[in-house]
Amino acid sequence: MALAHVLGAPRIGPHRELKFALERHWRGELDEAGLRAAASGIRQANWRAQAEAGLDCVAVGDFAYYDPMLTHVALFGCAPARFGFGARIGLAEYFQLARGNADCHAMEMTKWFDTNYHYLVPEFGPDTAFTLDGRWLLDEVAEAQTAGFKAKPVLIGPLTFLYLGKPKQAGFDRLDLLDRLLPAYVRLLAALRAAGIEWVQIDEPILSLDLPPAWRAAFERSCHAQRSAGVKLLLASYFGPLRDNLLTALQLPVDGVHLDGVRGGGELAQALDWLPATKVLSVGVLDGRNVWCDDLAAVLDRTEPLQARLGDRLWVAPSCSLAHVPVSLAPETRLDAELKSWLAFAAEKLEALGTLRAALNRGRAAVAPALDMNGRALASRRQSPRVHDAAVAARVAALRADADRRHSPFAARQAAQRARFALPLFPTTTIGSFPQTPDIRQARARFKRGELAEAAYVQAMRTEIETAVRRQAALGLDVLVHGEAERNDMVEYFGEQLAGFAFSQNGWVQSYGSRCVKPPILYGDVSRPRPMTVEWTRYAQSLTGKPVKGMLTGPVTMLQWSFVRDDQPRAVTALQLALAIRDEVADLEAAGIGIVQIDEPAYREGLPLRRADWPAYLDWAGRAFRVAAAAVRDDTQIHTHMCYSEFNDILPAIAAMDADVITIETSRSDMELLRGFGEFAYPNEIGPGVYDIHSPRVPSVEEMRRLLDKAAAVIPPGHLWVNPDCGLKTRDWPETEAALAGMVAAARAMRRVYAI
Ligand code: GLN
Ligand code: ZN
Repeated sequence: MALAHVLGAPRIGPHRELKFALERHWRGELDEAGLRAAASGIRQANWRAQAEAGLDCVAVGDFAYYDPMLTHVALFGCAPARFGFGARIGLAEYFQLARGNADCHAMEMTKWFDTNYHYLVPEFGPDTAFTLDGRWLLDEVAEAQTAGFKAKPVLIGPLTFLYLGKPKQAGFDRLDLLDRLLPAYVRLLAALRAAGIEWVQIDEPILSLDLPPAWRAAFERSCHAQRSAGVKLLLASYFGPLRDNLLTALQLPVDGVHLDGVRGGGELAQALDWLPATKVLSVGVLDGRNVWCDDLAAVLDRTEPLQARLGDRLWVAPSCSLAHVPVSLAPETRLDAELKSWLAFAAEKLEALGTLRAALNRGRAAVAPALDMNGRALASRRQSPRVHDAAVAARVAALRADADRRHSPFAARQAAQRARFALPLFPTTTIGSFPQTPDIRQARARFKRGELAEAAYVQAMRTEIETAVRRQAALGLDVLVHGEAERNDMVEYFGEQLAGFAFSQNGWVQSYGSRCVKPPILYGDVSRPRPMTVEWTRYAQSLTGKPVKGMLTGPVTMLQWSFVRDDQPRAVTALQLALAIRDEVADLEAAGIGIVQIDEPAYREGLPLRRADWPAYLDWAGRAFRVAAAAVRDDTQIHTHMCYSEFNDILPAIAAMDADVITIETSRSDMELLRGFGEFAYPNEIGPGVYDIHSPRVPSVEEMRRLLDKAAAVIPPGHLWVNPDCGLKTRDWPETEAALAGMVAAARAMRRVYAI
């Protein structure tokens, strides 16, 4: 008998119940008992769904009120000392860690591997102590058992927990804490055993990373200690192949290993050879990270031989937790039946897993109708003219090798652009969006619901553009923007106008805590039926003699923030997106727009988990960006914008994008970031953000001057632009105008010092 299980389920609830319960709780409208009841409802529904799909156990402990890493901080009593909490923390303290309080800023957040989920980063130092507060897991285990489910508790493993934390002081080695942490894990595992638990899943996804040898070596010790608790351990890794960590993982003193059979499918044969004869192998055969129906016949073709070798020791599962896909297709009433038949969210993945389990144990004939339906859906997707557009394929194939090259090198372009725009030294600009007032949001929402006629909507947006342009002119900014009032989201806005994208009504996934995003679904060859931004931008330009910068989202960012096709390489999809943007750039240029910004805030996020894979990614991502940007005249100026990432280790790749100007977020690091750009001698122009747009605080002119002086010390002053960190859509007008007035004053002060 092959067993089936999931590593975890979506935490947000079918209709974002967790989000709404949290928000009500934080507003004081729902007490703790009410919040706990809502959370319990979500868990119970998940367990029921897993049981109904025929799975052999249910995942418990995959739920979190805000974030699983934070829950482990609570579970092991290691809240950052700066909060002054004791070892036992309750929900009130838990939320303060997540959101900050009057005295302490919140724990930092960062991306969970290469997903778009953000976890809270534990803080570790030589004084960190661990005190088990088992309630954070044991209560949920009891809850599942009371409800009659066979529980398989899920824990983030001690090494992943430590590795993903940050040292509170430079040079401190988190690995030094392992011996202090392990006893707490052992006590918890013993308590689980006492509660009648047979298997515990220990997630150690850092096995898919380039691990320092000391960390890899520590796995043996870590698993050995945990095993002493007497409960069976399933060591789970996901998000990629294990490569140099594979042998380590398979030889660890645990009772089973879970491998990502989707991204790491190439390693399964090797894993099978190395797997000790007593161990369970759990194979992630369904794609837990994407929204497509898995090809069940193909999965069975690959899995049946495994079953022949392993028998009872084979478990099947999705590759990773289902928290990275939306909950269910059931509420989607607007996706057409054909497209819907190609998709599988968490509920449908569970169902597929149940089918797979039945096919393995009872033969394919036992589930013939389900397999049939799956086969038909896949065939229709493979052949659909909605997916395959011959014109797009031909255009990609015919793309010349030099289609990503500007006509002239940067120096010649810079001269042509200086002659055309005659901008002052330290030119001032913004990143694109201006405050999205309630009026703007309401107009957009009413237009979308059909309550506002198109003409009235266009008029409302034109009025907003006019306001934005008038205010920028009054402030004395040098390069203006139209303000992006018509955009709800920088990817959705373009996706809605491109062929190849679909939008769900309820396809939410957690971004962090109570925040969810609804990524577009990129299902087919991408093309641009008509111009997307030209009219708005042209209108803005008609209102002013100053240059207006056109505003586009780049191909890599669109790719990163969407669910994308699994039937062609990401690089190809990126090129298709690039060609659509290239057309838009050309139309903007033809409409007289001299400056175009192609935003790529997600450029770095696309980096593969393993460094060995970076060059290939940077190569195709860079080409995609340049294909979007390169077809313009020398005197058309291309900007790009990036934010909230570490850039220093990919500077050559950023330079290779060859944008004439890059604006980047820097004020958080007090311009330290720029040192890297200076040392690397970044060849083109740079606009380092001079103030943090996340805060309503208006920075003083002196502060911004000081930052600009720091920038001018490492970047040639003639290459410097002056701008905020990022878009201003979350701010109010009064603070925006005050901050920008100061910014312009700071730039003018710089001009007086540096003018020759
Ligand atoms: N142009 C976008 C804006 O100003 C850029 C947003 C971003 O960097 N994420 O809002
Ligand atoms: Zn930004």
